[in-house]
Amino acid sequence: MSEELRESDLDAVREQLGREPTVPFSVIARCSDGHPLVIRNRPLDADGHPFPTIFWLTCPTAVRSVSRLESDGWIGRLADDPELVERIEKAHAAYASERGRMAPGAERWGGVGGTDHGLKCLHAHYAYHLAGGDDVVGAWTAARVEPVHPPELRRRVAAIDQGTNSTRLLVLQPRDGEPIEICRDMVITRLGKSVDEKGTLDPAAIERAAEAIAWFRRRASALHAEEVRIGATSAVRDASDREDFLSRVRDMTGIEPEVIEGEREAALSFLGGTRGLDPADGPFLLVDIGGGSTEFVTGRTPGVMEHSISTQMGSVRLTERVRPSDPPTGDDLRRFESLVRAQLDEVERIVPVEEGRTLVAVAGTATTLQACTLGLERYDPDLVHRSMLTLADAERTLGELAAMTNEERAAIPVMPTGRGDVIVAGASILVHAMRRFGFEQALISETDILDGLALELLGVR
Ligand SMILES: [Zn+2]
Repeated sequence: MSEELRESDLDAVREQLGREPTVPFSVIARCSDGHPLVIRNRPLDADGHPFPTIFWLTCPTAVRSVSRLESDGWIGRLADDPELVERIEKAHAAYASERGRMAPGAERWGGVGGTDHGLKCLHAHYAYHLAGGDDVVGAWTAARVEPVHPPELRRRVAAIDQGTNSTRLLVLQPRDGEPIEICRDMVITRLGKSVDEKGTLDPAAIERAAEAIAWFRRRASALHAEEVRIGATSAVRDASDREDFLSRVRDMTGIEPEVIEGEREAALSFLGGTRGLDPADGPFLLVDIGGGSTEFVTGRTPGVMEHSISTQMGSVRLTERVRPSDPPTGDDLRRFESLVRAQLDEVERIVPVEEGRTLVAVAGTATTLQACTLGLERYDPDLVHRSMLTLADAERTLGELAAMTNEERAAIPVMPTGRGDVIVAGASILVHAMRRFGFEQALISETDILDGLALELLGVR
């Protein structure tokens, strides 16, 4: 399983805590100038011992504000409030099951901060609230300590992207120049499971994805996003029963999800993926390999799409079509190749790929392939974003991944949970596209349609 962590964040959290962090973690919320506010700890430490506090408040200013409430005696007063008892128990139960999702069995280690009932630590409840937990005490704390750093900048926006394989959240705060990332997070929900085969969504997958969206939506609100949009792509687009999913999300979030059609997806992906690149490196060809579809997009100017095609191939879809052995056989790999090549014929007819000078590859397949190629021990987005992946390296890493079993791939430190079984298909798309269109290297970008959705809310073009 992979958790994202930048070297700069590790340094910042070490300094905030005044000690070496004891478990691997990711930063899941930041203050206005970008320093870590809440981290998500892995439920097990390096020796496999339980670490029951998943969400941890790290910003020292926030910690001090909450400590003041505690020393004013609020823990006792809140715990004794008969109107709160039931709602506190509910928060404990939800926290425990969240931990169980991260590590099966870990739901038995108690609720917020490892407590089963009552109140022990307001910091843990506040961190849970900021993470998106439905926590009455955390929300009460927020109302008393925020803004933690006055005057807090406002006009934050949030985008949630529901793809075929993953559900992702981005919260941005506008600023002169580059917006500041307040939160970027991802969970694999595989909403597109069996859509290619059956044409309908799996009820369990609908529930899984809708819950993830509701959780991210609460986090966006806790982080004061004034506008929140939810975009859904290939899996929802293709499913005949998409209304079941859309109404479930509507009910759980109060937001009308947007079904993003292929051409819009291409434009948003191009906006997010190429914005900020040097125009002198254009024209650009962007490839966005998703779970259900892959977009090829061209444009001479960063951020401005000119031609695009959305193809019906993706890492999940190809894996479900070929149903490779574990590990895949040579025949399986040739079937991936022939399915990809058939789609690339179509791409060449519609999009002037030969005009592209810089190939930009976005989304989880490309970034994970690069992290494997770089041999990272921990997924550090700063090392992946806008780094070059050569065709020779991409081919070699694909070969290594294809020689492994699903279990072996899942155990690679930078492999996100739920990507190991589909990355061979996804990486095949990238390698065959590079070969076919004559690109010796690809610029790997962490930013993509998710950024496009959020930037559009900020009015950035
Ligand atoms: Zn802070």
